Amino acid sequence: MKKVIIRKTEEIENWRKNINTEINFIPTMGNLHNGHIKLISTAKNDNSNVNLVSIFINPLQFDNKLDLENYPKTIDNDIKISFANGADAIFIPSNEDIYPPNKNINFLKAPIELSSALCGLNRIGHFDGVCTVVYRLLNLIKPKNLYLGEKDWQQLLILKNLVLRKKLNVAIKSIPTQRDFDGIPLSSRNVHLSKNERKLIRFFSSELLEAKNNFKQEKKINLKEIIKKLSAKKISIEYLEHLHPYTLQKARLEDNISLLAGAIRCGETRLIDHVFLMKRRPIIAIDGPAGSGKSTVTKLIAKKLKLLYLDTGAMYRALSWLLIKENIDYKKEKNLQNIFKDISILFKSNTNSHQDVFINNYCVTEEIRSQEISSIVSKISSIKEVRKFLVEEQRKIGKSGGLVAEGRDIGTTVFPNAELKIFLTASIDERAKRRKSDKNSKDSQEIDLKTLKELIKKRDFEDSNREISPLIKAKDAIEIITDGYSINEVVEKIIDLYNDKIPKETEIK
Ligand code: C5P
Repeated sequence: MKKVIIRKTEEIENWRKNINTEINFIPTMGNLHNGHIKLISTAKNDNSNVNLVSIFINPLQFDNKLDLENYPKTIDNDIKISFANGADAIFIPSNEDIYPPNKNINFLKAPIELSSALCGLNRIGHFDGVCTVVYRLLNLIKPKNLYLGEKDWQQLLILKNLVLRKKLNVAIKSIPTQRDFDGIPLSSRNVHLSKNERKLIRFFSSELLEAKNNFKQEKKINLKEIIKKLSAKKISIEYLEHLHPYTLQKARLEDNISLLAGAIRCGETRLIDHVFLMKRRPIIAIDGPAGSGKSTVTKLIAKKLKLLYLDTGAMYRALSWLLIKENIDYKKEKNLQNIFKDISILFKSNTNSHQDVFINNYCVTEEIRSQEISSIVSKISSIKEVRKFLVEEQRKIGKSGGLVAEGRDIGTTVFPNAELKIFLTASIDERAKRRKSDKNSKDSQEIDLKTLKELIKKRDFEDSNREISPLIKAKDAIEIITDGYSINEVVEKIIDLYNDKIPKETEIK
């Protein structure tokens, strides 16, 4: 494809008509650095859409005239960098193109809840200007994906909100803050820094990083202490706040992920930086009835997001298998307590990239999928002591997070603080059909469809009506009905939801 530079808004329309594919849009204000390059190359590697980079210094988002005048302008170099790193087209409009003097401009307001915190306190009108320009650009370009950096986290939240509010058909993809060799976040404004100012910023960024590392162990943060250390270096702090990463309200004790964000002034330059504090790595909970596609979907998500896969149903099945094999009368609590004393349930990856299930060193992967086990497991899993024991085991496995767990009570009982909760379901016809063709449940293949449907219905009833942690959708779970969707579509949907809830930066160790 011929690389083009577009300078007029009217030309965008023509260009769009000729390209025949969707657009990835990377808006910038120029003076491109490695952060922008990462955005362009991420878009390039994500899909086969065309990549449009815009370079426009938006006057509306500058609250200070001098700052606007001094904003570095390096257009020739920016064009070279963009094309060399995956841009197919570059849009360089003038002020009059974006804000035609003879037309009514729809000046937008950023939502007050998000724009009154952090940078919004001192940069009056800044986020209104950002919303106005991005809304105009999105309406003009109509991209499928919008690429933004997490460096400007507050801006990212405000633009996500804009997309929702205006019901725009665009997906926002974010990339982690890109840092320079000395740890300070890359920013077009860094060119203004003197050697000494750079030293101060380095100190500020390293303090935030230290707070993040300490938080991993101590699970708490001392803002006053950090402010004291920064002040001792004569760093002028505009703000330093510990907040909920999505609402920007004060962080609460129960928040697993929180945001420590600050802005400092060095001479004429104002710089921002932040880190995410995490008590544990993220957890995805996937609940739903038999045959809803949970296992297939959960395994794929674990692989794609490099999370641990926890099949809690296999634990109930393995325990049922052992109780039957050892002929234990599980109605007697004492018998159960005895067996729990030295039970071990383990998962191990096997060569077929599946997981094997071991109970007390027996490999039971295949046997636990038999109809004999399927028909008894709901009864056994409704016993109070069994649930208490296995829920504890599951929580031990998930203690430091970084896992996707499937079951019936993950979002309600096992991990009620999971970052993302999915309730996966499908019609009974669809679920019976899936079970019948499931190679892992050999017995199901031999039963006729009608009987299989009745057996699934019976298990649904038992699971949903038991006294302790029955199968129900958690209040904050997102329901996905999988009839008519391919496995990949469901996986992609869940990964999009995850990316929307978890900052990309949290994946960096
Ligand atoms: O998911 P799977 O069909 O392997 O689960 C087998 C059974 O284990 C379920 O029907 C249910 O009775 C029980 N189970 C449970 N709680 C979970 C997972 C499974 O009660 N978290």
